[in-house]
Amino acid sequence: MGDSPLCPPRHLGPPKWEGGGWVTAPSCTTPPPSLGPLRWEGGGWVPPCAPHPQTPGSPQMGRRWMGPHGQQHWPEGHPACGGRAQSPIDIRTRWAQPDPSLPPICPVGQPGTPAFTLSNNGHTAVLALPPSLRLQGLPRSFAAAQLHFHWGRPGHAGGAEHLLDGHRAPAEMHVVHYDVERYTNASEAQHHAGGLAVLGVLLEVGADPHPTYDNILSHLGSIRYAGQTTAIPSFSVQDLLPPRLDLYYRYNGSLTTPPCFQSVLWTLFQQPVRISLAQLEQLQGTLYTTTAAEPEPQRLVDNFRVPQELNQRLVLSSFPRGESQLEAGGGGGGGEGAPRHDLAGSKKGVKGHHPASAEEWQETALGRGCTKGRGVPRWQGGGKKM
Ligand SMILES: [Zn+2]
Repeated sequence: MGDSPLCPPRHLGPPKWEGGGWVTAPSCTTPPPSLGPLRWEGGGWVPPCAPHPQTPGSPQMGRRWMGPHGQQHWPEGHPACGGRAQSPIDIRTRWAQPDPSLPPICPVGQPGTPAFTLSNNGHTAVLALPPSLRLQGLPRSFAAAQLHFHWGRPGHAGGAEHLLDGHRAPAEMHVVHYDVERYTNASEAQHHAGGLAVLGVLLEVGADPHPTYDNILSHLGSIRYAGQTTAIPSFSVQDLLPPRLDLYYRYNGSLTTPPCFQSVLWTLFQQPVRISLAQLEQLQGTLYTTTAAEPEPQRLVDNFRVPQELNQRLVLSSFPRGESQLEAGGGGGGGEGAPRHDLAGSKKGVKGHHPASAEEWQETALGRGCTKGRGVPRWQGGGKKM
C-alpha cells in the first residue's frame, strides 16, 4: 500500500487471511461504515482498506518503505512506530546477555490441513499457518498465525531486517505466533505486551537450493500481483528453521511494519538458513507491490525497515558468550550499568542475574533436547513430505 491506511485496527471476529480483500475495498482515510474481513497488514490484522489514491506521477517505488510516505513517516499515522521498543535492531553479539534459563524453541503440532494459503499482500509474501502449530519453550503456549519474508532487490546483498554486528543478511523470514492462552487470535494479541512471539530466521546464500523453501518460492509466480492468493500443499514448516533451535537472541520489540505495536517477544536464531542464489532471486524478483489492474507495475523490493534504537532494552542470548559467537576479547556485555528489564521467556528475567557458570549451562543443557528430528513432536504437513 502506498500510503498508510488510517483505519484503526478493529477486532472483528477471528483472524483469517483474506487475500485480495483490500483491492476493491473503500479507502480508509475515514473509517468505512462496514468493515469486511480482517487482513494481515505486515505484522498486524487490520480491516480491509484500499490504498489512498496515488498522486499522478508520484513515486510509487518502494511504496511503504521509501519515498514521501516511507518509513520515516510511519509515526505520523502510527504513533507506536515512534516508540522506544521498536524492531528490528542491530544485535551487537558481544553485548548480548547470556541467559542459561532460556530453553530451546520447540515447534509442536500438526497443520491438520492438506494445503496452506500463500498470498501477496502488496508488502510481502505471506503464508497463513494453522493455530494447531504451536511453540513451546516460551513462557506460555503460542499458536502460529503466519510467516512472511523481507528481502532487498536483485544484485544487492542486503535485505534482512535484523542485523548481527552490522551485517545485513540477504533476506529474513518471520514466523508469527500469538499467545493462545491469553488471546483468541493474533489481532487481539498484537495489542498486548508479549502477545506475539515472532521467530526470525536470517537467510544467507549457499551453494545448494533449500528444498523446503521451494515449497513456497516455487509458487511465487502464482501470486505475482498484490491481492493474489494461491493454495500450496502443506509441508513441514519446521524444516524452514535452522538446525539449532537452542541458539537464539531474545528481546522485546515490535511489529516491523505499521502499526508497529510493541507487543512482540522476538527470537532471532543465531544460525542462518542457506538458500541458493536462484532461490533468493525468486524472492527478490517475482512479486509486485501493485495489483494486476494497475497500469504501471512496481516491483515489491526492499521491504525491510532500518534498525531501530535499542534504548533501555537488553538482548539476551540462549547460549554462553563465546559459543557460536565471534568472540573478541570476552567483552563485558550486559554488565554494570547496562539497562535491564524483565524479558518474558527468561525464567529468571535478568534481575540479579549473574554470569552463568559452566555448571549452570551444563544443567540446563540437559533440557536442550528440542532440536530437529530428536523425538519431539514436529510441525509436519499432511501433504508433501520432504
Ligand atoms: Zn516481518
